[in-house]
Amino acid sequence: MSFNDLGLSHELVQAVGELGYDKPTPIQEKAIPYVLMGRDVLGCAQTGTGKTASFTLPMIDILASGRAKARMPRSLILEPTRELAAQVGESFEKYGSHHKLSMALLIGGESMAQQEKKLDRGVDVLIATPGRLIDLFERGKIIMADARILVIDEADRMLDMGFIPDVEKIVARLPFPHQTLFFSATMPPEIKKLADKFLLNPKEISV
Ligand code: AMP
Repeated sequence: MSFNDLGLSHELVQAVGELGYDKPTPIQEKAIPYVLMGRDVLGCAQTGTGKTASFTLPMIDILASGRAKARMPRSLILEPTRELAAQVGESFEKYGSHHKLSMALLIGGESMAQQEKKLDRGVDVLIATPGRLIDLFERGKIIMADARILVIDEADRMLDMGFIPDVEKIVARLPFPHQTLFFSATMPPEIKKLADKFLLNPKEISV
């Protein structure tokens, strides 16, 4: 299978080609068509499998096909650590090099004032750790009324780090219905239970 077979736009196929990706990885092959269809996805995959592109690439195409008037964030990617959030931010910029989508990285340890300025200018995608996002919510800096796609990445690490109550608070602020993509390296019963709570009739994928 090639990137041409997944339903992605020509611009994205070109972007991954320029990055030297010959063909999709198994998680990309299995997840991308379902994400493009608007389905919820429950993905069991570790870092290193190409998981980031499996949600970032279709998200870029979905966002590129519509535009919010007020430029409020239309998608949110939650990561358990600053490092992972920053890596996903880098991937988003690489894959979206042919698109005019804007992204804000909302992580602790960085200037809140700068993050607020960026939000005021309007962004399409938020990539955040739960704590910083909640701080910004509480300061009235983010309205999620337009958010249609949520990624909960590394759910097992979120659970280990005690972030699930924060994730629940965040999900409660998103409009319904929204599309949720939920990834975890492992699928113990507690994670399955969370997935049941956050996902609606998900396509289950394991690699
Ligand atoms: P991830 O699992 O998302 O952290 O990705 C692991 C690494 O694989 C990253 O450095 C990506 O740039 C790279 N990668 C992702 N998809 C592909 C692909 N289809 N072909 C080659 N490399 C890829």
